[in-house]
Amino acid sequence: MIRIGFDIGGSKLAALAMDPGGRELARTRQDVPRSYALTIETVRAAAANFEDAHGPAAAVGIAMPGMIGAGGELIRVVNLPWLEGRPLGADLAQALGRPVAIANDANCFALSEAIDGAAAGADVVFGAILGTGVGGGIVVGGRPLAGANAIAGEWGHNPLTADAEDGAPVVCSCGRTGCVETWLNGAALARDYRSVAGREVAGPEIARLAERGDPAARAALARYQRRLATALAGIVNLLDPDVIVLGGGLSAIGSLDTQVPKLWAPLVVAPAPRTRLVPARFGPESGLRGAAWLGRPS
Ligand SMILES: [Zn+2]
Repeated sequence: MIRIGFDIGGSKLAALAMDPGGRELARTRQDVPRSYALTIETVRAAAANFEDAHGPAAAVGIAMPGMIGAGGELIRVVNLPWLEGRPLGADLAQALGRPVAIANDANCFALSEAIDGAAAGADVVFGAILGTGVGGGIVVGGRPLAGANAIAGEWGHNPLTADAEDGAPVVCSCGRTGCVETWLNGAALARDYRSVAGREVAGPEIARLAERGDPAARAALARYQRRLATALAGIVNLLDPDVIVLGGGLSAIGSLDTQVPKLWAPLVVAPAPRTRLVPARFGPESGLRGAAWLGRPS
């Protein structure tokens, strides 16, 4: 039986049908429906189309940004306020005639990488997303962890004490000052480079400049790696994951996967930390794939 996943973001609704081995069968992408009733109808129709073409689905899962409770409760849904507090899982289950699992998109990212991605086979997986925002998700034993407050894995809003050479802390999207996100998102790397080089360059371009030997870019990247190592050392000490998977637009820059574990080693309480740091296998696809893996039989 096939698996169906949906990724409902701020502007697009993506849908994916996979076979039981994780091979893609079909996908669609459309503007996000801007009402509750239309969301249910859109998901129902897309699932029915997939089932007509590829046979019945064993599981239907949905990824979305925000705080999603362990039972799929939509506590806070970023940019989709018409879904907040609504019984979407129960209403979709009724419309589709089968259970529907809903989880935070960062948890779906971690789940996808834990099942057949860069952390396949690992028991405890932390998925760390480095992009415009800094998010994360936790998977233990093949199951995403939602948490008592539906914020498990939200390391981006932990405070991070940076060195003086990192500059002054700035206000975060959450309203606090000096969160991990404000030190590790794309804007942070660009701000760091601008403070030395005096010009505006995007994060991935700074990595390319560093590879070509630009001294300001190399220094900014080294500071970025050190801050990332400090933040992730806290994750290793707390969660002790087998694997940390890096996703998001900054995840592939500057050899983070090889450099950062060397920098976190002295900050982790274990004498020789074995946690692996790896780039995501499925990248931006992982949220959608993780949604399709949600609700699978154990
Ligand atoms: Zn914050």
